[in-house]
Amino acid sequence: MSSHSPHKPVNAGRRHVLGALGASILAGGAGKAVAQSLGFPAPPAGLGKRPYPNLLRPMNDGPRKFGYAIVGLGKYAVNQILPAFAECEYAKVTALVSGDINKARRLGKHYGIEESHLYTYDNFDKIAQDPEVDAVYIILPNSLHADFTERSFRAGKHVLCEKPMAVTVEECQRMITAGKKAGKKLMIGYRCHFDPVTHKAIELARTSIGKPQIITTDNGDNTDPTDPTYQWRLTRSLSGGGALMDLGIYGVNGSRYMLNEDPIEVQATIMPPSDPMFREIDETIVWIMKYRSGAVAHGSASFNVNAMSRFNLQGTDASLRMDPATSYWCNSVSHCTTGDTHTWSTPMFTIPALNQFSAQLDHLAISVANNTPLAATGEEGMQDVRLIQAMYQSAHSGSRPVSTDWGDWRKTI
Ligand code: NAD
Repeated sequence: MSSHSPHKPVNAGRRHVLGALGASILAGGAGKAVAQSLGFPAPPAGLGKRPYPNLLRPMNDGPRKFGYAIVGLGKYAVNQILPAFAECEYAKVTALVSGDINKARRLGKHYGIEESHLYTYDNFDKIAQDPEVDAVYIILPNSLHADFTERSFRAGKHVLCEKPMAVTVEECQRMITAGKKAGKKLMIGYRCHFDPVTHKAIELARTSIGKPQIITTDNGDNTDPTDPTYQWRLTRSLSGGGALMDLGIYGVNGSRYMLNEDPIEVQATIMPPSDPMFREIDETIVWIMKYRSGAVAHGSASFNVNAMSRFNLQGTDASLRMDPATSYWCNSVSHCTTGDTHTWSTPMFTIPALNQFSAQLDHLAISVANNTPLAATGEEGMQDVRLIQAMYQSAHSGSRPVSTDWGDWRKTI
């Protein structure tokens, strides 16, 4: 471990760099008005302990950006995350970790990362001596998240880990404990929390639909078994589960986020596989989550449908619809009322485009610099894994209801 601590001078500098505008944006104050004047939705009230990220980041003219090491150079890392650093204000990529050093070299050349900041999975622990790396972003198959998170914390780095956080609740707990022991932050890659369209939907859910009653959410995609990115997804030991773990999680997390409430009971049914390639995991699953408020969410996830990403929330007075809801780009939200005449009225909203990936990468950097709360913590990620496990338990026991009345964890942390 290096005796050099990269964090202190960086943080001090950044606090200065953020200045009054940054501080107010991060705190909601005057920055809230700035954000609204630019067309971003207002942060909703009543989120309890759940922090609500401000999407506008003040310009960073400071001396040094927060450095990320990217672990796993697969599809998501290469196509979405690495290009997104170009639109970051506070973060940059400073190291790459791959099982294929030649791939790391190729990408390193493209992104200006020198050989001394390229690592393999075997020599990854040497990253502890790399002062350019403040955080490790883990974009590996799900079953590898826990081990690499623990190794990253042991190396003295902060961690951003992809969803689903891990394959078991025990692993999630280990990750949280390791972060606390290291005194470092653990964030989960819920990029939709940084999509202004999601923010608009939350604002509408709070202000313009009456009492939330029914959520419907469907997430799916086709599987190409010849593509390596699908091979680990079809292997339970690497993925921890199928369509629900990979895609249904958006509906599970989105329902909880939209209602600002955790379900007290879940139920699920896994359909028989239509092809032997799905024998180890859920190809298609349907589920229900019941809430104490009386709201109910029902959803589906499938690895054998044309791409779907839908989220509807029906309230007593109106509803909101998102389709697509959780895409990388071009999500949409509309507010639907029928009024006395039962004529559908569905105004669309023009919401400034914003790169979710860049906002997410900057969020951890800002949270570390200012010691402000994270929007998506390890506890948040663990709650989804816990609910998903309860759904699998239901599906494997004849779709019996499974109690998830574990208390409101947000009030206990
Ligand atoms: P991918 O298969 O394209 O990439 C995974 C990488 O891990 C590859 O480079 C592969 O070589 C490497 N790897 C290391 N050990 C491996 C092993 N034992 N088996 C298989 N691959 C191994 O997958 P991806 O789509 O980039 O997904 C990676 C992670 O990112 C997953 O946790 C996934 O859920 C998450 N993800 C999140 C989003 C999002 O929108 N937030 C989107 C896609 C993927």
